[in-house]
Amino acid sequence: MNLILKEKKCFVFDMDGTIYLGDELIKGSYELFQYFNHHNIDYFFLTNNSSNSVKDYINKLNEMGIESGESNIITSSTSTISYLKRNFDICQQVFFIIGTPSMEEEFRKASINFITKKDEHTKIDAVVVGFDTTLTYKKLADASYYLNMNKTLIATNCDYICPLPEGEVTPDCGSIVSLLERTIECSVTYCGKPDIAILEPIFKQGFQREEMIIVGDRLYTDIALGFENEIDTALVLTGEATPQTIVESEVAPTIVLKSVESLYLTLKNKNKNREIFR
Ligand SMILES: [Mg+2]
Repeated sequence: MNLILKEKKCFVFDMDGTIYLGDELIKGSYELFQYFNHHNIDYFFLTNNSSNSVKDYINKLNEMGIESGESNIITSSTSTISYLKRNFDICQQVFFIIGTPSMEEEFRKASINFITKKDEHTKIDAVVVGFDTTLTYKKLADASYYLNMNKTLIATNCDYICPLPEGEVTPDCGSIVSLLERTIECSVTYCGKPDIAILEPIFKQGFQREEMIIVGDRLYTDIALGFENEIDTALVLTGEATPQTIVESEVAPTIVLKSVESLYLTLKNKNKNREIFR
């Protein structure tokens, strides 16, 4: 594929494992976003991590020196709320939610009716699960109670793990869903990447698929989103994917980069493609 990075008008970035690990910015990220701002190139942040709200991400990125606002951050909570609005009558229907206080706040702001504790008098239309870093056994037991009656489980994202610095990992939404699925057989709908609906806010701003490139560290979410929808992708090797997993994967990135620093150097013409593998 003949990919010319300089012709792209819209760069869509995953965050965890792509531009930072935990609270540490990955080398080259700061310079890359300075470059975009200087050249008026549009960029978006697209994360499957539903443990934080859009406001949390704005604060985190701004503290790291990366400019961002409500118009260029999309989380899997955002796409889950859109899914609920498309498929349920949110004025009438009620959900049971497993999520962090930040995720609950996003759902509250969107006028979604939900409970977070078992209430035998409340009828539930679906259980919604996010990447809950405040998860307790009580929440899992209460969710199982509702899933036993209504077999509908909606998950913000399918990721099994969230990468941390020094190669550490922590369980993500997909692992919580696996536990619930082993407890109660139910049908699961995943709302985050690679579901194309998560890109809706970007399409609404007028960008076409060929103008975009998705940059991420995970094959089955970031790269699958582009691969399945004819959007170019750049896989970075600073998070989950390794050269071995690329070989084994059914989805193929358009290009593979050592890190976002390679992208920055290429855009600045300082990288003679030594770190780009197509
Ligand atoms: Mg990632």
